[in-house]
Amino acid sequence: MSAGQRYDRFEIPGLQRRPDWWQVRPEEVTTAVEAAAKGEVRRIATTPGGFPVWAVAYGPPQARPGTATWGIGSNSRTMASYRTSENDPQVVMLLCGVHGAETESVAGAVNMLSLLETGRDLKGNPRPHLLDLMSRYRVVILPCVNMDGRAVSPDHLRGADLDQFRRASQGYWTDGTEIGYPACKEYAPLPLERVGHPGGYPNADGYNIQHDCCPGDLRTPEARGVLKLVADEQADLVLNLHSHTIGGQVLGDSLLAYPLHVHRVHVYKQRVFDALEAKGLRPAPVYPIEQRGGINLNTACVMASGGLTVTFEQSAAAEWSFDEVLEIHYTVIETFLEWGLKEPFSPRQIVARGQTE
Ligand SMILES: [Zn+2]
Repeated sequence: MSAGQRYDRFEIPGLQRRPDWWQVRPEEVTTAVEAAAKGEVRRIATTPGGFPVWAVAYGPPQARPGTATWGIGSNSRTMASYRTSENDPQVVMLLCGVHGAETESVAGAVNMLSLLETGRDLKGNPRPHLLDLMSRYRVVILPCVNMDGRAVSPDHLRGADLDQFRRASQGYWTDGTEIGYPACKEYAPLPLERVGHPGGYPNADGYNIQHDCCPGDLRTPEARGVLKLVADEQADLVLNLHSHTIGGQVLGDSLLAYPLHVHRVHVYKQRVFDALEAKGLRPAPVYPIEQRGGINLNTACVMASGGLTVTFEQSAAAEWSFDEVLEIHYTVIETFLEWGLKEPFSPRQIVARGQTE
């Protein structure tokens, strides 16, 4: 256990062995990041458990700062007061592993680092189309935001039953009862003195980073680091990559969202569904546009940069193989990057005026 780690890894006996290319433990993530030579590596936070939170950027350099933040510049008449390089490649950020028990995006990110550095992923496969698409953007990969949660979670949850899935994700109390979902969201932080195991949702202090988003009252170094990076990068697209127990699915935008973003996220639900369906990757159905999310880190990302921020949920269940998970990860990112070349993710002049195009 690392210095600030208070719990052992949650073990589920009998799960299938992960393949060698499924590198998701905190030390494995750090090894992959430290091997980066082409990428520009930054440590954006240190977790309460003592782990580094990494960001690795590829493509043109970070844009110079504007004369204003998004918050103030978006009220001006020129969006260039914040986004200084409207004609430069768009900035795409991948937030992976915000919930530590959800390993799919972490495995995907570590494979993408290998792809970007060596031309091949950890399976030894090239992915020229994805590499070509990424070369048209500045891409910033955060391979694991919640390193604390990762440290106490299994390497994957394929084959876990629903009870094990919930315990590994949201933890259990000292009396053995599940903390459960959404009851886990009654606490910031979880009262750790009453917790048997916190699961991989929170960081080592018991905070759910995905919901640490109140301006003036941020409680985790992870969320603070992410939001500062989103603002500094002038991010045009933030993909927040999670996992659940059904097929892959884009979730609806936050209830507090720009009208254009609400519409665009809904359109991407269908685009991603179609792309996964075409490859036989069994996506979950497209939610109607009325399905919306609460306040969360996405809401705060939009406030930090004006960029389109989207949650995609991967498949953590056994019905999707490790190979399929990686294919889903690549396909989703390719779908966004393909469409982003046809229409900007976040045309800020329109976004800031509260219009829908
Ligand atoms: Zn999640």
